[in-house]
Amino acid sequence: MSKKSEPKCSFCHRPKSECAALISGLDGNICENCISQAYEILDTEFGLVEAAPVKTTRGKKPKAKQKLTVTLPKDLKKHLDEYVIGQDESKKVLAVAVYNHYKRINQPEDADGIEIEKSNLLMVGSTGTGKTLLARTIAKSLNVPFTIVDATIFTEAGYVGEDVESMLTRLLQACDYDVAAAEQGIVYIDEMDKIARKSDNPSITRDVSGEGVQQGLLKMLEGTDVLVPPQGGRKHPDQPMVKVNTKNILFIGGGAFDGIEKHIARRINTSVIGFQDAKAKKVDRENLIQYITHQDIKTFGLIPELLGRMPVLTYLNPLDRDTLRLILTEPKNALVKQYEKLFSMEGISLKFELDALDYIVDKAIEYKLGARGLRSLCEAIMTDAMFELPSEKESVKEFVVSKAYAEEKLSHSRLAAITEIAP
Ligand code: ADP
Repeated sequence: MSKKSEPKCSFCHRPKSECAALISGLDGNICENCISQAYEILDTEFGLVEAAPVKTTRGKKPKAKQKLTVTLPKDLKKHLDEYVIGQDESKKVLAVAVYNHYKRINQPEDADGIEIEKSNLLMVGSTGTGKTLLARTIAKSLNVPFTIVDATIFTEAGYVGEDVESMLTRLLQACDYDVAAAEQGIVYIDEMDKIARKSDNPSITRDVSGEGVQQGLLKMLEGTDVLVPPQGGRKHPDQPMVKVNTKNILFIGGGAFDGIEKHIARRINTSVIGFQDAKAKKVDRENLIQYITHQDIKTFGLIPELLGRMPVLTYLNPLDRDTLRLILTEPKNALVKQYEKLFSMEGISLKFELDALDYIVDKAIEYKLGARGLRSLCEAIMTDAMFELPSEKESVKEFVVSKAYAEEKLSHSRLAAITEIAP
């Protein structure tokens, strides 16, 4: 090909044969020299070169370890208040633990030799009382990677199931494999109660899903380098591993610990001091969970070493009628607000009458569905309207959910049938 007919850089007109690289666009080409010149211009004019993404092999931007802005505990709690109703005790404990944790991360190395220890925490409370919601909300407010894992999927090495390390895979996935970000993230481990030792006798031979998993969690919760299979599952000798240090990852355990009240009651009654105390303070037998201690969790079957690595313990109150009622309307993304938004996107103004809301709460209590049930009930009530109204939005501008409407829809729903045959 003659130099004349050769493609040229549209900026400096150098022919392709003289360029190390010539990149073609729709109407022209650019050579490597002109690319770097353009880059320099951008840099001097706008300071953009620093910010230009540098690709790693996985195609992700490597980030320098970020200094996290530490939010004051009171502000953290205020933020939680916007999304979670009640549970003041656990909000306070969580806010302080998170604040101290991130203060610890930000402290200059060496300093005065005083090392602030990690403050992993354990939240105990019946299912659907807001444990996950609290953990998720706090992670969002801190803007750190967050993942939820279920402790029941783990088994100790050598058995069918997942290695405990795979929880870090999920954390990595939550931040596009940005290791530095993951190393400051939060992992919520749900169903911690399901890995309790089945027997109080620690010498009992093998306990695949219980104690073995607890043992597996020890190092990770404390802080160590963990080799993580990027795709999850079992570790495999030929698989490339990503190294993640867990020193600054905050682990929050959660569980219902069904039946733990029995242990609490026994402890309160048997300890002499406790008993006198109990009499003096009038124990609230309806809500024993508020007296929970690490001792009770140990009796339930978590090993002391693991509890030592989750030094902060808090509880969630069962949700009473008033709380359920508030959950429907008050949180920033309350269910009622969500439906109102869905309808307003169709140009329809949606209103729930007060007795319709009370009725939904009554049903959630009657069916023992808790807060999680509020959503299923609302869906059952609203599905027909959500199906029909989008086609009628020219004529319908307002839609009111009355108690009678809610009753009618619920009586025909699958939910009513399911809960009726449920024990
Ligand atoms: P848990 O983890 O304790 O089993 P979740 O946090 O998953 O329960 O709660 C289930 C759902 O119930 C949440 O998505 C939320 O909508 C609602 N919910 C539960 N407790 C509360 C609460 N205290 N305030 C607001 N919503 C709540």
